[in-house]
Amino acid sequence: MRTQRQIVDYSLRKRAVLREVYSGRVGVYEACDASPYLKSAAKFHGEPTEIRCPVCRREHLTHVHYIYGDELKQSAGQARAKSELPVLAMTFREFQVYVVEVCRGCGWNHLVEQYLLGRDGLVPGAGEAAAASAGRAR
Ligand SMILES: [Zn+2]
Repeated sequence: MRTQRQIVDYSLRKRAVLREVYSGRVGVYEACDASPYLKSAAKFHGEPTEIRCPVCRREHLTHVHYIYGDELKQSAGQARAKSELPVLAMTFREFQVYVVEVCRGCGWNHLVEQYLLGRDGLVPGAGEAAAASAGRAR
C-alpha cells in the first residue's frame, strides 16, 4: 500500500515463541489461546493465506487486520478486511494497523507486523504535482 510506513516486523519474536513451543517449554494450550473474538474476526474479516499453521500444520493461517487511532473514533480497535484498508488510508491522516495471524483450527495466534497507514504518508512530490496540475486547470 502506498502510504504504508513505520513497519515493525515481529517474525523474530514469533520464531522465539515457536521454539519454546517445539521444545515443550511452552505448552500448546498456552500458545494457542486465540479468543472467541479473534476467531470470529478471522472468520468474518480475515485474509486467508497459503501459510500452513506452524503448530498444528493442518490449517492455513488467517491474517486479521486491526486498526487503531484517535481519528477512527468508534472504529478504533476493530478488525477490517484487508481490501478496506486502501480506502481508509485515503480517508484518515494516520492510523495504526496490527496484523495478527490466527489458526482457526488449533487457535495459534501471534502478531505478525504493525505499520502506519493514512494520507499523511503520501509522497510529498506526488501531492504537489497533483496540486500543481489542479492549479493549471483553474
Ligand atoms: Zn493450527
